[in-house]
Amino acid sequence: MLSYVKRLLTNTCPCCNDPLAHEHHPLGYVKSCARGHYKEETFSYLGVRIVYKDLE
Ligand SMILES: [Zn+2]
Repeated sequence: MLSYVKRLLTNTCPCCNDPLAHEHHPLGYVKSCARGHYKEETFSYLGVRIVYKDLE
């Protein structure tokens, strides 16, 4: 669990360890793996974070 949290904080894909791409949008930002393993949408104004994972 600790290593998993550390990986999230370092902004790398939990599956392939590639750096996550950051994309800002009006409501917050998106972090995603270029290979489609992982996607995280943060809506700053709502305090909501949605995580999509497709770990094989
Ligand atoms: Zn990945």
